Amino acid sequence: MVEVKVLSGARSIGGNFIRIEDRDRALIFDQGLRFDIMERFYRGFIAPKGLRELREIGAAPRAEWYEGANAIYISHMHLDHLGLLSNIPSRTDVYLPSISIYEVLEEKWRDSPTWISLIPRKYYVEIEELSPLETDENNVMPLPVSHSAYPAYALLYFGSDENVLYTGDFRVEGFLKGEEFIKVHGGISMLEYLSENRDIRVDRLIIEGTNLGSTRAPISPAEEKAMLRRIFGAHTLIVATIHPLDLEYALFLSELASQAGRNMYLASEGAAKLMETAADLQAEPKVVADYVKTPSHFESVSLTDLKEDSILIASYHEIIDLLRDLRDAGALSEGSTTVLSEPEPRVEEAQEYEAIMNWFNNLGTQAYLMRASGHYYPHDLKTIMSTIKPKNVSIIHTRASRVSSI
Ligand SMILES: [Zn+2]
Ligand SMILES: [Zn+2]
Repeated sequence: MVEVKVLSGARSIGGNFIRIEDRDRALIFDQGLRFDIMERFYRGFIAPKGLRELREIGAAPRAEWYEGANAIYISHMHLDHLGLLSNIPSRTDVYLPSISIYEVLEEKWRDSPTWISLIPRKYYVEIEELSPLETDENNVMPLPVSHSAYPAYALLYFGSDENVLYTGDFRVEGFLKGEEFIKVHGGISMLEYLSENRDIRVDRLIIEGTNLGSTRAPISPAEEKAMLRRIFGAHTLIVATIHPLDLEYALFLSELASQAGRNMYLASEGAAKLMETAADLQAEPKVVADYVKTPSHFESVSLTDLKEDSILIASYHEIIDLLRDLRDAGALSEGSTTVLSEPEPRVEEAQEYEAIMNWFNNLGTQAYLMRASGHYYPHDLKTIMSTIKPKNVSIIHTRASRVSSI
């Protein structure tokens, strides 16, 4: 008999830990960090002391939750889902969305002087890669979804007497459509797959509900494109931040740059690595040497060589350094603007927004904060439910206590 336990993340945004038991099999879907709890205990000079403490305060999963698990599946590599791999107490297979992207990040994490160094796996953890739309030896089929981290999957478990669909984080409308989506994600999306395969019964749906109960404007990727085009029309240098895993947004900025006949520069190690994984880019970007230190396929230039009418991609963590460097090089002209894409909601990955905003003010830079959400909007629920037709629904990864639309 299939038994599903949501051990963490039911009423918080992030920190999912789903344990599925079925006869002699035990599977774990996601093992994320609870940033809401971390924010309560750690700030400024108060830092985590180690794994034991993170488990004790409930920020990291408890050791006993892993007992007897055959495998751990990670829906996508945001830390509220990937969590700390070093927290896995015994030999277990871990299925990741992309080994190559994980390895680039792992190298960076290992060198960190903070709790970030707890993310990489210990030697006894075997990593495997999820294959889109293929059922594996544990009866799990990863279904591609669009999200602000690439790659991202929903996980469908074909159980002995029940099928369970766990969505991870996803949005209904992404930046890529049709063939483009298939090329980047390796197959059609979860909703397309389920509407084409009506014989697949979903007995239990465990769905994220990040935007439920939020007043966030439901900006679609198409609407964001239109807004950015208007901004592009009025500015020469556009500095845009991207999350190091947000390939869809990076591809979209590259498309905008090529359509507007602008140069694209990458001043972010993560963005450079991410874009290197993407085949046939519309416009070949160049990397800014001071910000991308490891060798890249792309041509390298210095900050003083940037041409006007450009899009410059930065990471959140380095945006202020970059703007200060541009100012010092005399390249932060009045025609410059910054487009900050918010990794929403803020608790998903801790960021220092207030200080960033104060710097924008100090530097006299006009900044726009906008983002098509990485999560579906409340009005999408109708489409989602009529496509999946689940018998039972649990909404997790949300702060909403009651959901009226289902
Ligand atoms: Zn999440
Ligand atoms: Zn996420």
